[in-house]
Amino acid sequence: MTAVAASPRLKITYATLRNDNEELHALYDAGIDKARAQLGEHHVNYVGGQPRQGEGEFEKRSPIDQDLVLGHFAKGTRQDVQDAVAAAKAAFPGWSGTRWQERASVLRRAADLISERQMEFAALMALEVGKNRLEALGDVEETADLIRYYCDQIEANDGYDRAMGNLGDASVHTRSVLRPYGVFAVISPFNFPFALAGGPAGAALVAGNTVVFKPSSDAPFMGQKLYEVLRDAGLPDGVFNLVAGPGESVGAELQENEGVDGVVFTGSFEVGFDLYKSFARAYPKPVIVEMGGKNPAIVSRKADLEEAAEGVMRSAFGFQGQKCSANSRVYVERPVHDEFLRLLLAKTSEITIGDPLERSNWLGPVINARAQARYENAVAEARREGEVPIGGDRAVHDGLDRGFFVQPTVVTGLPTQHRLFRDELFVPLTAVAPVDSVDEGLRLANESAYALTAGFFSEDRSEVDEFLRRIQAGVVYVNRRAGATTGAWPGIQPFGGWKASGSTGKAGGGLYYVQQFMREQSQTIVD
Ligand code: NAD
Repeated sequence: MTAVAASPRLKITYATLRNDNEELHALYDAGIDKARAQLGEHHVNYVGGQPRQGEGEFEKRSPIDQDLVLGHFAKGTRQDVQDAVAAAKAAFPGWSGTRWQERASVLRRAADLISERQMEFAALMALEVGKNRLEALGDVEETADLIRYYCDQIEANDGYDRAMGNLGDASVHTRSVLRPYGVFAVISPFNFPFALAGGPAGAALVAGNTVVFKPSSDAPFMGQKLYEVLRDAGLPDGVFNLVAGPGESVGAELQENEGVDGVVFTGSFEVGFDLYKSFARAYPKPVIVEMGGKNPAIVSRKADLEEAAEGVMRSAFGFQGQKCSANSRVYVERPVHDEFLRLLLAKTSEITIGDPLERSNWLGPVINARAQARYENAVAEARREGEVPIGGDRAVHDGLDRGFFVQPTVVTGLPTQHRLFRDELFVPLTAVAPVDSVDEGLRLANESAYALTAGFFSEDRSEVDEFLRRIQAGVVYVNRRAGATTGAWPGIQPFGGWKASGSTGKAGGGLYYVQQFMREQSQTIVD
């Protein structure tokens, strides 16, 4: 086990995670230096604690600057996954037999290591996926807090071991015990490359499962960092295995391998739903899939329009629209539509675009050339069939053409049945339409198969109650200036989707999450 480095760290709260916090930026600058010193190296996978070379390497370049090579990563194979599953299976009796208090203490140590290394990790994440300073730091610290929260949950529930009744017969002793399944596959997306890897892995591990982890090929560096903190925290060999590599081979093997007892996946509907349908073959197994969103905001004629425009702007364009909770469609009551749009365009025009490592820039690049092409196709359609009052082009000033930078974009004048109101695009583009009533807004909001997050702006309490009664979404926000549809924190806003957005109806960072990684055993002993 490596000693914890006593580097200065920032306690992250709503008050400290602000762009005017000088201490934060000084620490962050030092983190950038540490991150840059690690670029260009070769990285391996880890199976049973041993390094694995894989079938050659894949190169990861920065979306900020395609000339910048971040590292070379071992390209895992199906065989690596098979060996990782075997290693995880071999480690399962030991880890599941470890007292939960001890498991939680190892995981808390990992969470503390993440907080110790927060600035270096945030800078690496910014380089790897293009998140701005505060968003990257938020992702890193959320990872630590998700892990801590899951430890708190198992503690608050006494390890999920409870005495049951005996119908008045004192010689009968029954307990309900939640027990881990075995080997869990953890498959993570590029957009929260740390929180949605470390969070699900943390829950699986504290529950007593062992893990085979596949990070996104767009974010392999953060996958390495997660492996390092768990190893340095003292997790035994084989309990957490890392196999980076293509979805079609490494991901598919995790999907098909009979030795995998459960899977937790976060990513697109296309991949996730296929996984959901095909994972269980011989008998049922847990499949936790968290998928995409097409998150609506509804703006009532009774809204504070300045607040609504700020909330929509932040959620439509934060992290370049690449959050599953991004606000990509807005329904505005007709009498306030024009004024709302004027305010939204004014706020959008003030967004600073550029290298997200610079504190002055809010909007970084999209993740890759495919995302840039998806953006350009959507804009071309909007120009043909509607209007694009702001944005619509690549951002190329000051060398930004070396990366995948595009302008934040608002589209109007499209019919509400248009695909830009329906498909998740995952780029900084939001579609705005007038509606005749809140009722119509709610109807359109609920028409989508996706049901992840939703926002509402109104100063009328009865309208708010109606919205809360009828809206179909796992996470809802009312009058939220900080983000109409985005932003969640462990233990504060549980985060999970309904319908096409998620399979279990239980949310990450919430009260019912850890239990999903366990199954109940009823144990009766008669004296
Ligand atoms: P993606 O579906 O392309 O990839 C997700 C992961 O699946 C990656 O690790 C990828 O390599 C892997 N994968 C690809 N093919 C596979 C296969 N055949 N078998 C198994 N694994 C395979 O998603 P992405 O582009 O990385 O992430 C963006 C998507 O994730 C968006 O749709 C977004 O809405 C969604 N998302 C959802 C949540 C949520 O909480 N609901 C959170 C973040 C992101």
